[in-house]
Amino acid sequence: MSQRVGIGYDIHRLEPGDGIVLANCRIPCPYRLVAHSDGDAVLHALCDALLGAVGAGDLGEHFPDTDPLYRGRNSAEFVHLVLALPALEAWRLVNLDVNIIAQAPRLSEHKPGMRRRLMELFDLGPDAVGLKARTNETCDAVGAKQAIQAQAIVLLTHR
Ligand code: MG
Repeated sequence: MSQRVGIGYDIHRLEPGDGIVLANCRIPCPYRLVAHSDGDAVLHALCDALLGAVGAGDLGEHFPDTDPLYRGRNSAEFVHLVLALPALEAWRLVNLDVNIIAQAPRLSEHKPGMRRRLMELFDLGPDAVGLKARTNETCDAVGAKQAIQAQAIVLLTHR
């Protein structure tokens, strides 16, 4: 098999705060993401997609949220650790695509910066990084500004 796909999902609760981190970009807003790490749902979903593509478990198995080592951790470090796993050694990332679902904060002005950061983190060109942001049309906990969700998909090809 010369290609693999992987899917990832994450959700973090929002609380009053002074900013969130998504796609490794700091977004100033009156919220924080409740998390053991920095709560970067985009990078967590992408890590799970990468792990899923090669049947290597999920982020929680590799980096348990009970481990004090990962408290407040910059999730870019998870990306580097996942990309360096032996399970991924034989595979090259072709492209990734991300959905962020957030009623708040508004993300439109931050999308170019988030996309640029994903291109850097995953060493991909502009046509290989998709990033969309949408509201949840006020439905459920995301729509009530109580949480943010991220979905990710990746394609890998054998080196
Ligand atoms: Mg997470």
